[in-house]
Amino acid sequence: MRQRKSEGYIDGKPLQPESLMMGYGYQPEWSEGAVKCPIFQTSTFVFKSAEEGKAYFELACGLREQAPNEKLGLIYSRLNNPDLEILEDRLALWDDAESCAAFESGMAAISTTLLAYLRPGDYLLHNEPLYGGSDHFFKHILTQFGITPVAFSAGMSNEAIRQLARQSIPQGKLGMLYLETPANPTNALVDIEFCSQLARELSSTDRKAPVVVDNTFLGPLYQHPLKHGADLVIYSATKYIGGHSDVIAGACLGSHEWLHPVKVLRVYMGAIAGPWTGWLLLRSLETLKLRMDCQNRNARFVADFLCDHPQVEKVYYLGHLTESDPQYEIYRKQCDAPGGMISFEVKGGEREAFRFLNALKLIKLAVSLGSTESLAEHPHTMTHASMCPEDKQQFGITENMIRLSVGVEHPEDLITDLNQALEKCQSAVELVGAAP
Ligand SMILES: *Cc1c(COP(=O)(O)O)cnc(C)c1O
Repeated sequence: MRQRKSEGYIDGKPLQPESLMMGYGYQPEWSEGAVKCPIFQTSTFVFKSAEEGKAYFELACGLREQAPNEKLGLIYSRLNNPDLEILEDRLALWDDAESCAAFESGMAAISTTLLAYLRPGDYLLHNEPLYGGSDHFFKHILTQFGITPVAFSAGMSNEAIRQLARQSIPQGKLGMLYLETPANPTNALVDIEFCSQLARELSSTDRKAPVVVDNTFLGPLYQHPLKHGADLVIYSATKYIGGHSDVIAGACLGSHEWLHPVKVLRVYMGAIAGPWTGWLLLRSLETLKLRMDCQNRNARFVADFLCDHPQVEKVYYLGHLTESDPQYEIYRKQCDAPGGMISFEVKGGEREAFRFLNALKLIKLAVSLGSTESLAEHPHTMTHASMCPEDKQQFGITENMIRLSVGVEHPEDLITDLNQALEKCQSAVELVGAAP
């Protein structure tokens, strides 16, 4: 657990993250009393003396141990910057993480973290389906460096995952176990606690393979992978954390020990977020809980409506899991709420799905997710376009599937929009039926 600053408590009682997002880690006297942290739009920082500069570099280069209470001073914005340090302090509160590293994108967080741990000859065990960018990075970039990805399907039983891993990965060759749960776009869940046990079984005694979880879909509010045995948790902060479709960013969190190699590599990849990105995310974090709770509530209305609609064939929504479903037990164990992501299949195929998407008025047709506005897209031809046809079929990414990210609009208005668009795709089915 992270050592909180004293302002994180009142009368010894730890405050909730949502109460701390407005001020934690920032002192107004640093900036003429400004209530909000300004943008420190600077590339470099002036040392008070040459001795101070030397001391900062000794720490930054790992030439000596950090003294108790000694802080790494500000040197250069590829290493650290006040907006980023404050952002990292605040982000860490939600996952109760010791350490956090902010990145210029979710993919920068993912690629830097994987390169910090994987070595030629290693195997990377991961679930499918995955975010398209991660999928491409694993299969087409990491393979050029002698790393072998081994995929299992989200929704497979734990025993089947164990068997597949044992058959495909030589003992001691597992470099990392990487999860995305809920999986995009099917919302299939993977058991984090089981995977952390499996990583231990497959690791050699001198090297433990980390369990890394992309928590973009439910975090940082509704799922806390570090509590279930994950070593590192990753976010595309472009999504719920940023929440306004106006910034690209990422983060990686975990213990000091697990995060240290990631932070070191971040300096040399040059992947740290800029001050303006950091400032935008500080602004966004103030309303994170409000937004996500509203999106979570709205999504339930929308999912219930879709389930009852005659033009809808199937709905993928975590809030509809029933106790008889093997996924329910995983949900109960590691998720606190179903969140705002819904996928569903309309009756028909691509043609009906496109008719529906083209008919939407309030909901925007765009990829990305987690923002204040509701967004709809067609995974088969958009976010998951680069996936091979066999994989699409195996992982259930069908031609009639729509992915919906529910925003903060009035739920009745969302339903009005969905209803009129579903009526338009209905007529397409009827037209096909009537054709000679
Ligand atoms: C968007 C996304 C990413 C990539 O993040 P960027 O900020 O676009 O680089 C990674 N994982 C998931 C689950 C995502 O949705």
